[in-house]
Amino acid sequence: MVAIGKILGNPKPLESVNRIIEHGKRGQAILLSGPPGIGKFALGIWMATRFLCQNDRAGCGECLSCRSVRNFKHPDFLLVFPFPNLASESRKNTVFHFCDPINSDARYSDDSLEEVNRFLAEKAEDPYRIVSFAKKQNIPVDIIRDLIKAVGKRPMLGQRRVVMVCEIEKMAFGASDLFLKTVEEPPEDTLMILTTARPNTIPQTLLSRTLRIPIPPATDDDIRDYLRGAGYDKCEDFYLRYAAGSPGLALKAHQENLIKRRDNVWRILSDYIRDRQMPKTIEALRKTSLKMSFDDARDDFKLLYKILRDFYFIKIGLDNKLINIDIKNELEKSARALNSRAIIQEWLKALIKAARVHEMNNVSVDLAWIGMYIEFDRAMGQNRESDS
Ligand SMILES: [Zn+2]
Repeated sequence: MVAIGKILGNPKPLESVNRIIEHGKRGQAILLSGPPGIGKFALGIWMATRFLCQNDRAGCGECLSCRSVRNFKHPDFLLVFPFPNLASESRKNTVFHFCDPINSDARYSDDSLEEVNRFLAEKAEDPYRIVSFAKKQNIPVDIIRDLIKAVGKRPMLGQRRVVMVCEIEKMAFGASDLFLKTVEEPPEDTLMILTTARPNTIPQTLLSRTLRIPIPPATDDDIRDYLRGAGYDKCEDFYLRYAAGSPGLALKAHQENLIKRRDNVWRILSDYIRDRQMPKTIEALRKTSLKMSFDDARDDFKLLYKILRDFYFIKIGLDNKLINIDIKNELEKSARALNSRAIIQEWLKALIKAARVHEMNNVSVDLAWIGMYIEFDRAMGQNRESDS
């Protein structure tokens, strides 16, 4: 179990959080923002632990309240996060403890429940960990409906309650409208914590009613310490640069041996740049992306994005900013073959478009990738003669 009280390398947000908890200024919902793995969840749990602690809000970690917050069993800690709604004949389970076991409409399959429990088990072990799902996740309207009902009742154990809704950008259509009033006027006894990795995608009506606390990046040294604790003694520069201050992302990169995945994405791109053989490229894309999970495909888009971004930095002479620093020479060689910056800009556009199409779940992974490469090839043809 990672020490929750030690929020890596960022005293600033802790100061304002301490003020909120100690002075009981909790009329306003708090929005913790920052990229995945940066520590939003960890900080939220830490706040909840302190707010509900039976030892004078110390977050002692010893009392029954602290312990039950940390294993997500506290009846007055209402935690919601996006999960995949996996289809099944029978939808019989409620997945969160605040849902009324008899009257709730929010019912899901055994598979969904299993995914929810896996998320909780992994987060109890390490709140920084980024938990991946095989299928797209959201926060269904029915869950929000149950949550609002639960918030309308008195806390069960003590005088206080914590509501934490993670990744609010993943609320299903209609859910955020429904939730707005509760965010606007949380009950006096309730500390409302929201988290998001993408504050700019959240409706302004919701955003404007929150106190936003952005979580600053952890230092490289803090991340190295954290990784050592997880059993990774050596940390590649690529991983540190890729994680950009997010401990959870650095861990995930190690656990999933992301450098290997990066190499694969890079090999397909560099082969394409060298040979411009679309049939060969399509074949390679098919082979790697056919059985890829939703979250894995999203990671690969991100890996490719960082390669294209490095190309751009090479072109404008900012070589010291490269993320894929370990393959710098190869990147430079390929960048020379791209005769204009316009190509890289077009490619970035095509990539963002393809990633969005994938995000909407509109096409299969391999089609999204192939479509993107077809646009890459078009940009190469168009920009062959021009130069920037
Ligand atoms: Zn305690």
